[in-house]
Amino acid sequence: MIHLKYETRNFDTLKCMKEDQAKQRIEKLKQEIHYHRRLYFVEDRQEISDSALDSLKHELVQLEKEYPDLITHDSPSQRIGGEPLSAFKKVTHTERMLSLNDAFSFDEVKEWEGRLIRLLGTKQWSYFVDVKFDGLAMSIMYENGVFARAATRGDGIIGEDVTQNVRTIESIPLKLEGKSIPRRVEVRGEVMMMKDEFERVNKQLKKDNKEIYANPRNLSAGSIRQLDPKITASRKLRFFGWDVETSPWGVSDETWQRHVSRSDQYEFLKSFGIPTSGHHAVCHTLDEVEKIYHKIERIREKLPYWIDGIVVKVNEIDVAQKAGIVGKAPRAAVAWKFPAEEVTTVVKDIQVQVGRTGVLTPVALFEPVRVAGTTVSRATLHNQAEIDRLGVRIGDTVIIRKAGDIIPEVVQVLPKLRPRSARPFRIPSACPICHSRIESKKIGKGEQGVGLYCTNKQCFAQQVNALIHFVSRSAFDMRGLKDKLIELFVQQGLISEPADLFDLTVDALKILKGFKNKKARNIVDAIQSRTHISLDRFIYALGIPQVGAQTARALANDLKSLNNLKSATEDALMAIEDIGPIVAKNVREWFCDRLHQQIITRLLSKIAIESQTGKAQSKKLQGLIFVFTGELSEYSREEAEELVRSLGGKAMSSVSKDTDYVVVGDGPGSKLTKAEQLGVKVVDEGEFVKMTRV
Ligand SMILES: [Zn+2]
Repeated sequence: MIHLKYETRNFDTLKCMKEDQAKQRIEKLKQEIHYHRRLYFVEDRQEISDSALDSLKHELVQLEKEYPDLITHDSPSQRIGGEPLSAFKKVTHTERMLSLNDAFSFDEVKEWEGRLIRLLGTKQWSYFVDVKFDGLAMSIMYENGVFARAATRGDGIIGEDVTQNVRTIESIPLKLEGKSIPRRVEVRGEVMMMKDEFERVNKQLKKDNKEIYANPRNLSAGSIRQLDPKITASRKLRFFGWDVETSPWGVSDETWQRHVSRSDQYEFLKSFGIPTSGHHAVCHTLDEVEKIYHKIERIREKLPYWIDGIVVKVNEIDVAQKAGIVGKAPRAAVAWKFPAEEVTTVVKDIQVQVGRTGVLTPVALFEPVRVAGTTVSRATLHNQAEIDRLGVRIGDTVIIRKAGDIIPEVVQVLPKLRPRSARPFRIPSACPICHSRIESKKIGKGEQGVGLYCTNKQCFAQQVNALIHFVSRSAFDMRGLKDKLIELFVQQGLISEPADLFDLTVDALKILKGFKNKKARNIVDAIQSRTHISLDRFIYALGIPQVGAQTARALANDLKSLNNLKSATEDALMAIEDIGPIVAKNVREWFCDRLHQQIITRLLSKIAIESQTGKAQSKKLQGLIFVFTGELSEYSREEAEELVRSLGGKAMSSVSKDTDYVVVGDGPGSKLTKAEQLGVKVVDEGEFVKMTRV
């Protein structure tokens, strides 16, 4: 901000001013205030400080008090004029206010173009692109260049007269600039609340024990629909224009008539003194449009206001008119939305899953819905306490989002949308898979560490999940043994514990439906190629509660052999770095179990554990800090982070200037933007895999 010294006159001298002098001074002040308003809101510049500008306004108000006859409608002092209303009048729009059809992917945008080409014949147009504001659409009518009326979109045909309130928005000129202004000009655009103002207003509402607004669009709308304009004025709203129309009888100037494209219209808006986003562009192909989409998506968080996508319009207005309207939307425009970060959906069911350790986890199943770029149909509800906290019932409408970019979670229930048929849910008292008894056990830290467990060690679900864990990448790494296959093999009675895998034969698998010789052979080979395994992988594969790959490595490096591990006391285990009392107890209990002893004995008759030398570990990523965003195809987030740690690096959950690499998978989130802002190196999964190869 530039601070210039700006002196205003002493008010005492004003009193002696003659009326014609006053008139001149008022006119000059209005122009000056208007000039600085324009500079600030339209050009994003400031020549004088806020307080200097306030001082000018103050002088104007004082002068107008002296000479009330000189007050005009377009005076900046008249922004907050009217008395509170009892209701809003209805207004019929001169031209219907249309809405836009949405597209959620580049494919959909291309389909849209395809439809236009089929409709209009050859493609002879360019595209005009701008940000899609997440605000409140507004129509502002100027008569002879002077602000006359503002109306909400309403149903597109009839809106509400909110003139008094919109007048308080300082970024809207009360008088249009320029020489040849048509008699009637309608400016369309968006009333917005800036991010910092949203925080401020909500904070204040909270302090006053009033209900806060969930999103800035609601707050903007709520602020505009205040019957008392003083409240609207206190909410510092902004306005950005995106369209300008004149009624047919109003056209008065040839230059004006020549405006034939959206980009020309924006030039007009700017010349009138109406702020625009500044992010608009003309593109000749959809590939160019796509580049802008991604560019704007990256800077989205840095913008002072909220946007939810880009608007793509045919730039040539005559072409757009030819394309016409379908339903409530013009054919020649589309809103290309960013992936939504929070969406609503309906809980169809809540099911209980049984994990490899027997832990019971309630999972909500939804109507599939797209959130942050991927389709989501389920989310864990963690435990009964979480179900109770959310108050979620089957049939409820809920808000879901993706936590840490990839894991869907239920944020909130919308109880007003609850149908009468909604059912509360309680985790059953028996295992939903094997109907065995359930017990509450503590195997982890804190409250989250307490869980409900199926007591039956031969429970089908536990067997399947234990085997899925056994063949997983950080364990025996048997490629091609997908979860579904494991489930099928257990179901068919082919396997029930790890050792059984090594007894599988091509002939046995060929009996299964859909298994040809080659497929069966590949699976048997994948298993047989893994009969030699390192001690740390072996320990991890056992699936001892709370023993992840890193803990398994610590145990292997310290104890060197399976026999040492089997006989280690809790105290001996706790003496190992990184091993706490919970893990020590879990390890001890696991090896004391007779069933587990049998599993190991059988397994050791099939495979050999390679000796752990301790030096075999590579420290290829020593000291490097990684952050992951989006979904990787080869690894789960957990596996990738584990891999980094195993190579001496660190995996962190948020990007900072200390981050060395951000690894980007499918559907990356805000971490990518952050990385770009901070200049952190961004790599894709392929590059990451290369870096980790020993
Ligand atoms: Zn069970």
